[in-house]
Amino acid sequence: MTDEDPRPQDARPAEDSLAEYRRKRDFTRTPEPAAAAPAPTARALGSAAATPAASAPSLDATDGARGRIYVIHKHDASQLHYDLRLELGGTLRSWAVPKGPSLDPSERRLAVQVEDHPLEYASFEGTIPEGEYGAGTVMVWDMGWWEPDEAWMKESKGHQVLAPEEALAKGDLKFILHGQKLQGSWALVQMKGRGAKNWLLIKHKDGYAQSGVDITAAAPDSALSGRSLQEIAAGAPPRPRQDEAAVGGGPDSSGP
Ligand code: MN
Repeated sequence: MTDEDPRPQDARPAEDSLAEYRRKRDFTRTPEPAAAAPAPTARALGSAAATPAASAPSLDATDGARGRIYVIHKHDASQLHYDLRLELGGTLRSWAVPKGPSLDPSERRLAVQVEDHPLEYASFEGTIPEGEYGAGTVMVWDMGWWEPDEAWMKESKGHQVLAPEEALAKGDLKFILHGQKLQGSWALVQMKGRGAKNWLLIKHKDGYAQSGVDITAAAPDSALSGRSLQEIAAGAPPRPRQDEAAVGGGPDSSGP
């Protein structure tokens, strides 16, 4: 042990945790970000997103200065599923959610942890060609930022406020989403005795909880470009934003 300041957990080098991401993909074939070097900060996202389509919008609605990046990709692979990604430690921790999120706290959705993705992936939208890993169309279904839910942690058994890294290691992350479609408090809870990769995504009972509404059906299109899966697959241009002012930031938005 030394008296040196411990490095902030978010400063953990991202390279190692992206090895699996790189190994699974042939970047001469897939349009996904190559993750050659770890992006230093969330703020770099806009410029770091080397998306082939010049018209692709950057993830400017996500203000990395306010919190960590949150994104859910809708992925029309062999089985349509949703990929929840939360920025932590310089990468996007990722879970494949076969049925997608539910606003109903009684509906616990299986979330299978998959390999970390690079931060630049947050704004990736496009089609992974046939024969490549994850072949199919990828949409940014929801995006925004997230923060640990400290109030809920204090109310919970143990009253312990844990750093996100530690909470994940213990298999119980309570967090608040600030997305365009999903808001409020959520939990990721690791399933016991079912293999370390199996988690449950659960909506906490709060003002954003709702039953009887299928949010994936009610809001099917891209939060980034407004496009449907079919439009993304066809390479259609982004739709003009109708809610630009609401999403672009309030009076406290300092811009990039
Ligand atoms: Mn996927």
